[in-house]
Amino acid sequence: MNDFSKKCFVCQRPIDPSTTCKNTEVNLPVCDHCKGTQAEQDALNEMNDSLSDGWFCGGM
Ligand SMILES: [Zn+2]
Repeated sequence: MNDFSKKCFVCQRPIDPSTTCKNTEVNLPVCDHCKGTQAEQDALNEMNDSLSDGWFCGGM
């Protein structure tokens, strides 16, 4: 099992991948507390310099 699919990539809080939105840029789940926040942008900046908005909701 990929641990990254079960926690918010911003705050590392455990989440339910079936009900949590994914950031489609990195294909990682992001919790409601972090979605759309500067913290999310900062986390994205650490992974990828090219930013774009977009979430995939409801899991895969
Ligand atoms: Zn979070």
